[in-house]
Amino acid sequence: MKKYVYFFGNGKAEGRAEMKGLLGGKGANLAEMTNISLPVPAGFTISTEVCTYYYANKRTTPKSLAGEVKAALKKVEKAMGSRFGDPKNPLLVSVRSGARASMPGMMDTILNLGLNDVVAGGLIQKTNNPRFVFDSYRRFVQMYGDVVLGLKPVHKDEIDPFEVIIEEKKRSKGVHLDTDLDANDMKELVGLFKAAIKEKTGHSFPEDPMKQLWGAVSAVFGSWNNDRAIAYRKMYDIPESWGTAVNVQSMVFGNMGEDSGTGVAFTRDAATGENLFYGEYLMNAQGEDVVAGTRTPLPITQLKEQNPKIYGQLDRIRKTLEKHYHDMMDIEFTIQQGKLYMLQCRVGKRTAFAAIKIAVDMVSERLIDDREALRRIEPDQLNQLLRPVFDLKEKESAVKSGRLLAKGLNAGPGAATGRVVFNAPDAEEWAKRGEKVILTRIETSPEDIKGMDAAEGILTARGGMTSHAALVARQMGKVCVAGCSSLEIDYTTHTMTVKGRVVKEGDWISLDGTTGEVIEGKVATKPSEVLQVLIDKTLDPKSAPVYEEYARIMSWADKYRRLKIRTNADQPDQAANAIAFGAEGIGLCRTEHMFFGEGKIGPMREMILADTEDERRRALARLLPLQREDFEGIFEAMNGRPVTIRTIDPPLHEFVPHEEPAQRQLAAQMGVSYEKVRQRVDSLHEFNPMLGFRGCRLGIIFPEITEMQSRAIFEAAANIQLKGIKVEPEVMIPLVGNVKELSHQEKIVRTVAAEVMAEKKVKFKYLVGTMIEIPRGAITADEIATVAEFFSFGTNDLTQTTLGVSRDDAGRFLIPYVEKEIYPKDPFEVLDRVGVGSLMKIAIEKGRGVRPDLKVGICGEHGGEPSSVEFCHQINQNYVSCSPFRVPIARLAAARAALADQAGASKKPAKKGRAAKRR
Ligand code: PEP
Ligand code: MG
Repeated sequence: MKKYVYFFGNGKAEGRAEMKGLLGGKGANLAEMTNISLPVPAGFTISTEVCTYYYANKRTTPKSLAGEVKAALKKVEKAMGSRFGDPKNPLLVSVRSGARASMPGMMDTILNLGLNDVVAGGLIQKTNNPRFVFDSYRRFVQMYGDVVLGLKPVHKDEIDPFEVIIEEKKRSKGVHLDTDLDANDMKELVGLFKAAIKEKTGHSFPEDPMKQLWGAVSAVFGSWNNDRAIAYRKMYDIPESWGTAVNVQSMVFGNMGEDSGTGVAFTRDAATGENLFYGEYLMNAQGEDVVAGTRTPLPITQLKEQNPKIYGQLDRIRKTLEKHYHDMMDIEFTIQQGKLYMLQCRVGKRTAFAAIKIAVDMVSERLIDDREALRRIEPDQLNQLLRPVFDLKEKESAVKSGRLLAKGLNAGPGAATGRVVFNAPDAEEWAKRGEKVILTRIETSPEDIKGMDAAEGILTARGGMTSHAALVARQMGKVCVAGCSSLEIDYTTHTMTVKGRVVKEGDWISLDGTTGEVIEGKVATKPSEVLQVLIDKTLDPKSAPVYEEYARIMSWADKYRRLKIRTNADQPDQAANAIAFGAEGIGLCRTEHMFFGEGKIGPMREMILADTEDERRRALARLLPLQREDFEGIFEAMNGRPVTIRTIDPPLHEFVPHEEPAQRQLAAQMGVSYEKVRQRVDSLHEFNPMLGFRGCRLGIIFPEITEMQSRAIFEAAANIQLKGIKVEPEVMIPLVGNVKELSHQEKIVRTVAAEVMAEKKVKFKYLVGTMIEIPRGAITADEIATVAEFFSFGTNDLTQTTLGVSRDDAGRFLIPYVEKEIYPKDPFEVLDRVGVGSLMKIAIEKGRGVRPDLKVGICGEHGGEPSSVEFCHQINQNYVSCSPFRVPIARLAAARAALADQAGASKKPAKKGRAAKRR
């Protein structure tokens, strides 16, 4: 018979940390902590296979489950010395979700389960603490009513119906805090809650503990498919098929008086990565009080003074866990009448800054090696290091002029400026309109997840560093200021009042998530530390600790990667930036982009509009020196590194004016009639320019264009080589689908090269190759490779032509396509391995079949997208080429791909890439 239930308790567990797939993260780690003798209250985990069964079988559970649960419950009762539903000595349990990947707060939890009127009576006799019992009871009814019986707010501006009842009770008693309510008040709340549930949902609260347990287990499985869990899974690529486990664990109580408490902590600072014990706790409280942010907790350092013995024990556990897991861990603990219990541990979420610092520090501390450090940093996280920070002078002057509104906790580092909105749906809606918004909430809850994702930054009035807002923001890499208690937020009027000032919906504010400052209005930003060192060269690396960590990671990445990293650049300054980021060559220089510069568009237009070869040659002759100069600049900047230059590939109509005044002006410049210009522009109109007169077709119909470009390239190469700088031009012919197209162009290129070498009396090496960007090119790669010395996959076009999806018009249907999971990701962002990838494999196999040393690269936007880089590694390409700012990401992605090879593992696609709009 299949085993569905796994017990843990009394120092022995049936599970282990490696069993996350079956037991979920929480279940596996509870088992692991039990096995390493940490104090864990006994319990059992119902496996994720039951969740799968539940959804495959009309929301029912396997027949054998009831027996297994009963048996496990017996073991728990034995371990804890109490019995479920026994009024004299009751065992209460928590019922929590636990998926393979952590999904904080997305699914449901129920605490204090097993209480009813009779058990409550018995528990009072046992504990002699009626307030504690009724407080626990009312929390249970509240959670059960919400999660299992469905009594929750229906409108975005509505307050939780249970909170309304509590507030009413406090008002009638004239008190402010929940802790001011006495046992009798709590008892009354239980009655009021039950009545509200019955009245509003039609369901009675079940008194039978076993019925409560099954209701809760089903609700937790059901919560795997609630809206926020689905949204979260989409955001973080968590497959629906994983399902959640359910953990049933003996309750321990942090609300049994002043010698009890509860807390959450990170073994290091999750925002900065510093090696400090970082956490928060509250005495006389239950877990959700800390995480939900309804009371602002105390820093863990205070526990050292308040209870040095427990603090010491926790600090030892902190070290044990880091040594055991070799990672920064996130823990939950409860102190029950002076005794410490561990309720959870998992690998802690962290900001990109922290991920890098922790990885680097742990290598120095010999907890992990440099390979593991690289595995721990998602390539896209590097983006956060490149993001702007506030211009300090601007910020100081804003503060001096009295614009500092408030200071909260620096929960998510970085700088964000945006307009205030007060709820998540508005944040989403405004962001869709292109507005930058700051989501401002009293506290956030898991329902807010999509709004948080849409916002530039998140501001909350309540909650600590481990509140929901703070945790989720850090994970998303969002700027967040939390627990800003001086803000008085009014959801109904959509305003907040602070220091007597009223900030309305739509007003601009700025958040400094690194210092916790909230500033009225906009504050200008400036480049990040890494950019100041590498690009602006305004900061000394020695006084830039974040940069130094970045540099170490990059050096490790370079040690392990096999792929070379090039860049797509058309200007010397772009090339210089890319080199600063570590580029080893140019993989794509789009020559048509060079014509947009000063003084070049005129002759370019004349060339396009020319009627005869003579006219065209005259225009080309004017373009030649301009192009040559550009290439010289690039060769110089690249200083001996290889440079792939693509012959012109423009949709011609993009270069000509379409409005009458501009056409008249051009006609005057060219000394021809306006009519002639207009007619010529009209004649260039194409119904489908992407499949029209572009790429090598242009050079074949007008060979003089390829001649001029080749001359400009080779003259520049000769001139630079004569200056003593090595050059290695690689001339690339675009949009080739037939080897004859390539041979035609190759002949021109080689003829000009020979001419220039003879004229300049200099020899230089060069290659002629092609882009593979239409399927026929890939399929006939064996023919093409007889001519081409290298291939570069133009996956923007190859995706467009393989899928038959226009890269410029796809937005309208591709987003719904991805939502419907027809494609797992936008194929213009993340390479479609199955379709486009197959063509790439064919091309490499056929190409190298006739030319074993064929150099192969990629220069479509996918070249800087981590999952696509991994694929390029797997199919044995020589290099990837991407925009300068993605070079660090590609370096890290390439190293991780090489390491995954070593480990024989494969990684799933990463989250974000860049759109493949043509220009
Ligand atoms: C491509 O098609 O992938 C490519 C790099 O060329 P372009 O984007 O200029 O068409
Ligand atoms: Mg292309």
